[in-house]
Amino acid sequence: MSVDAANPLAQELNPWLAADARFNEAAGRLAMDEGIRKILRSPSREITVYVPVLLDDGRIEVFTGYRVQHSIARGPAKGGIRYAPDVSIEEVRALASWMTWKCAVVNIPYGGGKGGVICEPSILSPGELERLTRRYTAEIIEFIGPEKDVPAPDMNTTEQVMAWIMDTYSMHMRQTVTGVVTGKPLDLGGSRGRPEATGRGCMIVTLEALARLGMKPEETTVVIQGFGNVGGMAARLMSRRGFHVIAVIEYDGAVYNAKGLDIEALLQHRKETGSIREFAGGEEIDRDQALFLECDVLLPAAKEGVITSRTAPKLNCKIVCEGANGPTTAPADHILSEKGIFVIPDILANAGGVTVSYFEWVQDRQGFFWNEDLVNQRLEEIMVNSFRDVVKYSEKYKAHNRLAAYMLALDRVAFAIKLRGLYA
Ligand code: GLU
Repeated sequence: MSVDAANPLAQELNPWLAADARFNEAAGRLAMDEGIRKILRSPSREITVYVPVLLDDGRIEVFTGYRVQHSIARGPAKGGIRYAPDVSIEEVRALASWMTWKCAVVNIPYGGGKGGVICEPSILSPGELERLTRRYTAEIIEFIGPEKDVPAPDMNTTEQVMAWIMDTYSMHMRQTVTGVVTGKPLDLGGSRGRPEATGRGCMIVTLEALARLGMKPEETTVVIQGFGNVGGMAARLMSRRGFHVIAVIEYDGAVYNAKGLDIEALLQHRKETGSIREFAGGEEIDRDQALFLECDVLLPAAKEGVITSRTAPKLNCKIVCEGANGPTTAPADHILSEKGIFVIPDILANAGGVTVSYFEWVQDRQGFFWNEDLVNQRLEEIMVNSFRDVVKYSEKYKAHNRLAAYMLALDRVAFAIKLRGLYA
């Protein structure tokens, strides 16, 4: 390990170092075999592609894209693709490793992968976005496939983007291959319940945490940071279930109502105006301070690095449910643990999305589609069992929940590697 990697400040800024710090802690506690540890610590493959795209004004721009396959020990690599200006190889590598651990925590037969393209999707026209997506897919085409690596949506990638990936791959294969991506539109092999799955999974594990802590949803206040696919759906489902979502924090502001926000009205307002600001059903508050509001559940559902050594001491919640990937930095873990906050770690809390992606892939391969009740019932079963598995590890090893989730995941992946043996 380099000097840098052990530096807490570096771990706060670099998601890969944050992931590596957790990995090392969990592997150490499990007294993992040194060789297996070396295998699991590094990704199995990293692909960088330079993607030329014809812009609407006739110019050509070249975008940098990545696909990292962290592990295929338990099955095909699985994980989303994100489009954002601050995508970096370190971030994609961290996100890919989190997918390996996440799929192992929920015990679905996948490894972990992640992709990203450095771009600003909000200034690209639909045509430019389509050309970028198709060319990026073509550049990584020999590395993906239903049995190899199955992408999905992530930040700023939609059902439409998945449809373009599926079509590009299918055109190359000269046959329609729906199982190459998940998170597709319903009419193209998508699954019922997939758009809500991550938010629903967050709600299911929060309900489990409440039951353990002797709390009731009707008496529980929630602050949600991020109002996209994960935060927006979690807000909707949790408020329907009786939770009081008292604040929503977005990149451009925050809105608060002590009695609980009308989430349907807020979603409608955002749809109409493009923002949660100036919402009649709540007051605008400072977005940085909103994170520190007194509440029962804080649900970060945006980006990495929100709960840090600087912000963690000021949190005023009983439960943190991590809808985002990597919202808490490694140094902040210990602060949350000392404060006695019950953390539902990302690799468990937001695993509902990839779980229903797995259902989608199964349905595509069978060509037989399930109704929404069946999807939701199977999702609930997996989320509840996984929550209980993590809690069992936490009790057995006297570890906080994140460490326990990593230990559970590492154990499962290491077991698969040992069974397979090393191909030489
Ligand atoms: N991008 C989502 C995640 O981070 C979903 C991945 C998937 O469905 O493969 O879990």
